[in-house]
Amino acid sequence: MNRDPDTSKTTNSRFAFGLEKALAVLVVLTVAALVFERQILQTSLTLDASDGSVAVYDDSVSGGTTESEILDSEAISWRCNLAESKQYSYCGFELIFDPLRRQRGLDLSRYDQIHLWLDYEGPTETIRVYLRNYDPAYSTPGRNDSTKYNQVEFDRKRTEGDGPASFSMKDFFVANWWFQHNRLPPELTHPQFDNIVVLEIQTGLSPVAGEHRFRLSKVELVGQALSSEQWYFAIMATWLVVALGFLSARIWRLKQEVTLKSRRERELVEVNRLLDRRGRSLEDRARKDPLTGAFNREGIEEAIKQGLLAFRRNGEPLSLIFLDVDHFKAVNDNHGHGVGDQILSGLASTVQKHVRGSDGFARWGGEEFVLVCPNTGRAEATNLAEKLRGLLEGEQFGTPVSITVSFGVAMLKDGEGVEQLFHRADEALYLAKQLGRNRVETAE
Ligand code: GH3
Ligand code: MG
Ligand code: MG
Repeated sequence: MNRDPDTSKTTNSRFAFGLEKALAVLVVLTVAALVFERQILQTSLTLDASDGSVAVYDDSVSGGTTESEILDSEAISWRCNLAESKQYSYCGFELIFDPLRRQRGLDLSRYDQIHLWLDYEGPTETIRVYLRNYDPAYSTPGRNDSTKYNQVEFDRKRTEGDGPASFSMKDFFVANWWFQHNRLPPELTHPQFDNIVVLEIQTGLSPVAGEHRFRLSKVELVGQALSSEQWYFAIMATWLVVALGFLSARIWRLKQEVTLKSRRERELVEVNRLLDRRGRSLEDRARKDPLTGAFNREGIEEAIKQGLLAFRRNGEPLSLIFLDVDHFKAVNDNHGHGVGDQILSGLASTVQKHVRGSDGFARWGGEEFVLVCPNTGRAEATNLAEKLRGLLEGEQFGTPVSITVSFGVAMLKDGEGVEQLFHRADEALYLAKQLGRNRVETAE
């Protein structure tokens, strides 16, 4: 456990600084993610002969006289010979991704560009590309032309030169003739690329009789791995997670600090209590006589003050009793100081046991004690002194010595000071000694 009070502050500022750095990094990353969205998300797919099976087709199925053949299936190279004809004649090739059933194709919906590396020699003016989509909503298994014909048709000049012929996927439309055959509801009439089972390339709308040679070396589709919507959502989610993480960490820290603080407070209270107890015992020691446990002169002051106050304010009587052990010197001389001490402490505890809680009892010096009795009249004080005298008379307190005690009693008079009161009580005690000891004398 670390009790250094500065530690939490340093940890806090380190924590805050770390947070600022993390925020700055996150902001930079976010800006980069927005600016370079295309580059980050770009994904591409290359198709060639190995991705499906290659076949050629032509109008001979519908009674035409066109003949076609594959020249090199690895490179997708084929030729066909279109005869002069009055009906629509065509030839083309297909790359079939699901050759057996033509049902499970490729999802090309996330791509937005298509590049075709196509070489062409021959008389046609336009070239047609079909991406055929299978969807149970309109396709029937086994019926080849029930796949949706997404079509793009372009000028053959595009195949000249080194680069590919490139199109946006948005350039595709659904072939009219297919549409007429199938009569679909409006929501199904859009081009669709989520399950492309066949890629076709064929001669275009205005076929020219003669020989056509195609060579397709590569098809590339380029698009975004995630849609912009998904991308923004991911960025937002990241921010939310970071914010949540930060909040949790902060709450956790605060909780810890609160726990630490309350523990420290409890410790402080404990220490204060200890100090208080110790202070009080020191105070007690300063106000009490160590041998007898009675007050010393300083300690009795409070009782005298209280008595005086009650006397002045409420007219409550205040009395004073002086006690002095008789012939105590002889006790010491004959039995030693230890025995004397034992008697003094025994005497003090006997007196304390038999007086009121409000009475103040103090060792005035040597074997002399004083009892301050608030709200006590002269006669009452005399009685008390008499009672104590009787109790103490012949007491041994476990020593071989029996003692007696003499008492001087005085009650505070109107207009009198404490000093005079003590003086008169002392005089009464002196008188008691004079008159033979072991007796009570009360001042007039
Ligand atoms: P009296 O009857 O006239 O009071 O005679 P006394 O011998 O009691 O009076 P005195 O004043 O001559 O003697 C008091 C003795 O009290 C002297 C001293 O040895 C003893 N004394 C004072 N303080 C202590 C103390 O703390 N312990 C012990 N054992 N003796 C004490
Ligand atoms: Mg004495
Ligand atoms: Mg004395």
